[in-house]
Amino acid sequence: MSDFESIAAAIPATLPLDEHNKKLVSNVHPPDWVNPEPSGRYNMVVIGGGTAGLVTAAGAAGLGAKVALIERHLLGGDCLNVGCVPSKALIRCARAYADVRDAGEYGVHVPDGFKLDFGAVMERMRKLRAGISPHDSAERFRSLGIDIFIGDGKFTSPNTIEVAGKTLKFAKACIATGARAAALPIPGLAESGALTNETVFSLTELPKRLAVIGAGPIGVELTQSFARFGSKVTLFESGDQILLREDKDAALIVQKAIERDGVEIKCCSAAKGVRMEGDERVIEYDTGGGKMDLRVDQILVGVGRSPNVDNLGLEAAGVEFDKRTGVKVNDNLRTTSKHIYAAGDVCSAFKFTHTADAMARIVITNALFFGSKKTSTLTIPWATYSDPEIAHVGLYEHEAAQRGVEIDTFKVELSTVDRAILEGDDEGFLKVHVRKGSDEILGATMVSRHAGETISELGLAITAKIGLGTIANTIHPYPTEAEVIKKAADNYNRTRLTPFVKSLFNKILAWRR
Ligand SMILES: Cc1cc2nc3c(=O)[nH]c(=O)nc-3n(C[C@H](O)[C@H](O)[C@H](O)COP(=O)(O)OP(=O)(O)OC[C@H]3O[C@@H](n4cnc5c(N)ncnc54)[C@H](O)[C@@H]3O)c2cc1C
Repeated sequence: MSDFESIAAAIPATLPLDEHNKKLVSNVHPPDWVNPEPSGRYNMVVIGGGTAGLVTAAGAAGLGAKVALIERHLLGGDCLNVGCVPSKALIRCARAYADVRDAGEYGVHVPDGFKLDFGAVMERMRKLRAGISPHDSAERFRSLGIDIFIGDGKFTSPNTIEVAGKTLKFAKACIATGARAAALPIPGLAESGALTNETVFSLTELPKRLAVIGAGPIGVELTQSFARFGSKVTLFESGDQILLREDKDAALIVQKAIERDGVEIKCCSAAKGVRMEGDERVIEYDTGGGKMDLRVDQILVGVGRSPNVDNLGLEAAGVEFDKRTGVKVNDNLRTTSKHIYAAGDVCSAFKFTHTADAMARIVITNALFFGSKKTSTLTIPWATYSDPEIAHVGLYEHEAAQRGVEIDTFKVELSTVDRAILEGDDEGFLKVHVRKGSDEILGATMVSRHAGETISELGLAITAKIGLGTIANTIHPYPTEAEVIKKAADNYNRTRLTPFVKSLFNKILAWRR
């Protein structure tokens, strides 16, 4: 077996072993990598080389700290290798397909028989991912002065970590080991070779029939993409709507959109068992009113994430954890062992790359410079990159109600925004929640083709305490999708026109005629 083949045997995400994946591996898990000799006591040892770990290591080293970074699989972690990067590459191709499919609506007549080349879609993804990988490469981080160790990191005491037979001593450590696809205890599912985010991006052939279990962001994004590629996709969700965490009105719009792409959605349906019949996977599921079978070629499971806390020696380090919620941290990201910190998916309810990045920055300040930055002060936006996208920041309506915070909500339909109409993307809306009787923005949800981009204006407004009144005074270029925010702000301004002010204006204008 070549070095590449033995890496691929241990890390299926690196399959197929073509030139692109070899380039990826050469960057993020170099086959000929020789771990350095540990040098004395480190200011900071980081376990896990995903976003949280890389940002912590680079930031600490940039400030002059002596840093070691340990990664057992692929530097770049989930985001680069089996998460954001490959999924967004596929989503782009799915959108290109949908644009051609729907081109007739724009007067562009595409001859019948156009087709999608799944092999080319996947190769494009592998090429782009490999192209991005130098940014997270072992060589780049070594050039920043960081000691990179490839292997399993494990605490052996509150002040030592072992990796590949070497002992690293540290003053401070950061646990950034991320999360993995949560397992579903359904009889026969594991034996059926069900796909997860760790294996789905290695497919080279399009499954004709695909069952996706779990309608969270990962399940929904991949469901829509595979449906557009041409798979017959059935999406199972045990709850009564897709994207359970989202505003119901917003989730319903996405639900209708993916149904138009040909997806069959089975809400309130739970898979009970899986059996193999020849090459077919047969899912037995509960409809609420009885049991049914569904025959598919592949199953993809996306039912949430489990934090990577096993075999880390956390007990030896005095770090408390929970197998479901991860490493226990306080608001400053300190674990129960005061000189050990954690960041990213391993300890966060907000499992996003940008949150892992923000948490890493907090760890650097708090661990190395007596800082007391708090995660509770972060304003965290997020988006699901379906078509249309859903983006959110701050409080949801139901959260405001739970906390007893009174709000006013300004809702603007995309069908009133010229640019959205002209683009043919007028299905969607923006809801902005403000503290009752004021213009203080507490939260916003948006559904639109570019919601993930547009929401940032409201994230900035919340962070900088800019109210809707100021947004109403901000000129937005015409015609843009972002004008929807200006319209919500104008609606707020109109509420300030009380009957008294209105009658005063009328009197002034009559007098000036
Ligand atoms: C399909 C998919 C799509 C996604 N899309 C988005 C998106 O569009 N936007 C977004 O913001 N987020 C997205 N995410 C989430 C995002 O990928 C994660 O939030 C982010 O990667 C978390 O970074 P992290 O550093 O905490 O963990 P990870 O990226 O998981 O990195 C942890 C690293 O630690 C290593 N490790 C674990 N244990 C050990 C050990 N004992 N020794 C050494 N190394 C160890 C792992 O191998 C891994 O490389 C997506 C996730 C998935 C699965």
